Order: sequence, then C-alpha cells, then structure tokens
Amino acid sequence: MRVFVVHAHPEPKSFNGAMTRQATEGLTAAGHEVAVSDLYAMGFNAVSDRRNFTTTHDPHYYRQESEESYAAAHDGFSSDIQAEMDKLFWCDALILQFPLWWFGVPAILKGWVDRVFASGGKIYGGGKWFDRGVLAGKRAMCSTTIGGQPPMYSAHGLSGPISTILFPINHGMLYFTGFTVVEPFIVHAPRRISCEDRAEYLARYRDRVLGLATAPTISYPKLDDYDEQFVLKSSQSTRNQLDLHSTVKTPRP
Ligand code: FAD
Repeated sequence: MRVFVVHAHPEPKSFNGAMTRQATEGLTAAGHEVAVSDLYAMGFNAVSDRRNFTTTHDPHYYRQESEESYAAAHDGFSSDIQAEMDKLFWCDALILQFPLWWFGVPAILKGWVDRVFASGGKIYGGGKWFDRGVLAGKRAMCSTTIGGQPPMYSAHGLSGPISTILFPINHGMLYFTGFTVVEPFIVHAPRRISCEDRAEYLARYRDRVLGLATAPTISYPKLDDYDEQFVLKSSQSTRNQLDLHSTVKTPRP
C-alpha cells in the first residue's frame, strides 16, 4: 500500500507529530511505502491566487476555476502544487493529520486543499466528482486531535457531534473528489490524559493505519441516488410534504 500523509502541525514534538511518526514507522516496517508532506516544515504556501499557475487564462479577472481548467489543459500548475498532485495520484490512501482548530483544519491544510484540489478535470470537474471522482478507488482518513473530551462532542454535547464537525472535510473535500472515506481516528484531549492513555492511543493508531485498506468507511449516497436538483430521490415523499406545508415561497431567480 502507498500511503500519503499530509501533516499539519507546527510543532514536531506535538502529539500530532508523534502520530505521524507512529504511522510512518509502522507502515514502513510492514513493507508499505509512505510519503509525508509536513506542511509547516515545507513552508507550504497556503494562499491560493495567481501564483498557483505558470499559465494565465484571463489576466484581467482572476477566476480560480477557469485558471485551474486552463492550467489542467496546458500543464500550468506551479511546481509545489504539481508535486502534491503527483503524490495524490501515486497513493492508495491519504491521511490528513491535524489538530482540530476552530472546528476545522488549520489554515495551512485548508490552503493545501484550496490549491491542490483543482478543477478542470484535474482533481474534480467535468462530471468527475463524488463516486465518479478522479480519486475514486483510493481511501482517505482524517486523523485528528481535539481539545475537548468525547461527551462534549456527542449528540447532546456542547459542541455537537464530531461527525457533523468533520462532515465538511469528509464529505465536502474527500468524498467530493472521489475518495472512499475511512472513519476518522480521533484523539480527545491529548494534553489532559495520562501518559499510559497517550501510549495506548498511539498503539491503536498504529493498528488503524496498518489496517487502513479494510478499516470501516463512512457510507454516503451515490450520485445516482439524487434527482436532477441533487436531492435524494428517497426523500421525495418527505420533501413533497414539506413543500405542501411551507408558507414561505422562495422566489425563483
Ligand atoms: P500537544 O499539546 O502537542 O500534545 C499533548 C501531549 O502529548 C503533550 O503533553 C505532549 O508532550 C504529549 N506527547 C507528545 N508526543 C508524545 C508521545 N510520543 N508519547 C506520549 N505523549 C506524547 N479544541 C477543540 O476541542 N475545538 C476547537 O475548535 C479547537 N480550536 C483550536 C484552535 C486553535 C487555534 C488552537 C491552538 C487550539 C484549538 N483547540 C480546539 C485545541 C486543539 O485541538 C488541541 O490543542 C490539539 O488537538 C492538541 O493536539 P497537539 O498535538 O497540539 O497536542
């Protein structure tokens, strides 16, 4: 298995750092190939703009998707983006390793996605998305540490369910581009737990990455399950009822 770890933590001695080392050492010892993009160590530029490209489609108005389509057709991505794309195409499985920051990924990782997940059919677009995506057949997993304890991230907890918080990443980024999304590996409150518990988490994480090929996945509907307005066909009867009872009519554009 070829595993690509995108690591987003500024401190090498952090628990996130320990997790990426655990994954890399475990996978390598078991004969797998590993590539790591340590975004802070690389000084990865997270700002998405004209510097993404060596080509220019429209010098008067910067529209990123148009520039991405043009670059995809003319081999025009900057070398740092192309290198990350090459690792995506190379891998069988992608791991996003990050601490939860403001209910999302650190800006450097969001910038990596903004710049590397390019449209124009390179990573998505032209009908290539979700289960028909360019990266279909590959697996991806979020591996994240969270400041709060599990009850806080449960259905009735203060922060709400962690599955909802990770939905924009799991569904909006990973499934959107075609990945089969593996259930996230989550470490809660690594700073507040005991040394033994931290060691236990690291051992479990090693098992998870070694079993990545068969680890449980999140089941999302396929594109064929949606109608022409991208509403689940199976929800039609509920939807019709809601429409009937709705008193607010949304004007059509
Ligand atoms: P660290 O503090 O680096 O490590 C935890 C402990 O593990 C340390 O004691 C360290 O020494 C130890 N350790 C390191 N390596 C090993 C090893 N090999 N073996 C055993 N122990 C080891 N939290 C939320 O819940 N929700 C939020 O929305 C949120 N937003 C945040 C936004 C920002 C900007 C910041 C800075 C924090 C936020 N947090 C939030 C908290 C954040 O999620 C946690 O601080 C983070 O997940 C902790 O992970 P870490 O790798 O930084 O831990």
